[in-house]
Amino acid sequence: MTLVRRKFLTRAALAGSVLGAPAVVGAQGKTVLNWKMTSAYPKGAPFYMDGPGSATDLARRIREMSDGRLNIQVFGAGELVPAFEGFDAVRSGTVEMNHANSYFWTGKTFAAQYFTAVPFGMNFQGINGWLYDGGGIDLWNEVYEPFGMVAMPCGNTGVQMTGWFKKEINSVADFKGLKMRIPGLAGKVYAKLGVDVKVLPGGEIFPALERGVIDAAEFVGPFQDRRLGLHKAAKYYYTTGWHESATVSELLINKAAWQKLPKDLQAIVSNAAAACNVISEGWCQKANSEAMEDLIKNQKVIARPLPDAVIAALRQETNKVLAEAVAADALTKKVHTSYMEFKAKFDRWAEVSEEAYHGKVRG
Ligand code: CA
Repeated sequence: MTLVRRKFLTRAALAGSVLGAPAVVGAQGKTVLNWKMTSAYPKGAPFYMDGPGSATDLARRIREMSDGRLNIQVFGAGELVPAFEGFDAVRSGTVEMNHANSYFWTGKTFAAQYFTAVPFGMNFQGINGWLYDGGGIDLWNEVYEPFGMVAMPCGNTGVQMTGWFKKEINSVADFKGLKMRIPGLAGKVYAKLGVDVKVLPGGEIFPALERGVIDAAEFVGPFQDRRLGLHKAAKYYYTTGWHESATVSELLINKAAWQKLPKDLQAIVSNAAAACNVISEGWCQKANSEAMEDLIKNQKVIARPLPDAVIAALRQETNKVLAEAVAADALTKKVHTSYMEFKAKFDRWAEVSEEAYHGKVRG
């Protein structure tokens, strides 16, 4: 063993002793790091845990690119820690990584919301422009600095759907007393319009909707929603999601572990995460376009957007909820300002580029 390798092994072994992941010398004399990654989603969940750009695909890419020097064992929700305890598991160093969405951590720091989805926010192209080139990832890391963690995007569902309703929504008055499964910031907005907000894990949505425990439900999009069977419990599918316009998946990493990684392994992790960000979104376009066609043609689902007046009311309440959050926390204000300044420029550009193409030119 060379002196250089001995030094590295000592450093890596130290990292292992801190984080409980021993570095070992593999069969070919390579130093092998064994890391753990938890998830907020159950084992086998399409997009999140299984398939192109998922957590297991991310781990595979990192293993292959590093020639086995960084092995990441992936655990679904509940296998090592419960679904929403990944933040604390990474923070404490119990695991090195967690794969989820930053908006699950708004109870720890509200600004985390902006790195997943803001109602009436940017699309996949815009959010990536802000994250990679508009200072978004730097702000994400600033928000997690007090917790000793770093983060980066590693997936995206694209635009989600408003959700499933047993009855038509013709006006804001139809929200009064409506029991709806809708988590997060969007839930706060609906609540202001009289919705009785329920937060249920994915697996409990179908039985609750079918039995009438809830009258409406939001989950993800056509592929994921059909998999839960939501179309069998409600026929009105309100389309394009005002609440989640391009939902980002988060790779959360313990900062001490990250800083101890050799530079080439850091680059491999960053590049694998960026690849999964694009690949997962592409998979969603394919899966959702096929599922939507099936839902409309074969399952007799009635798909339509919410009425304009309802969208206007949701926008107004969203602005109030965000104004309250900005007034309450300086870091949220900083992230909000950066996001909205980027969005203003992006919107003007999108209007004469992508939107003009899809609206008038595409045919
Ligand atoms: Ca959703």
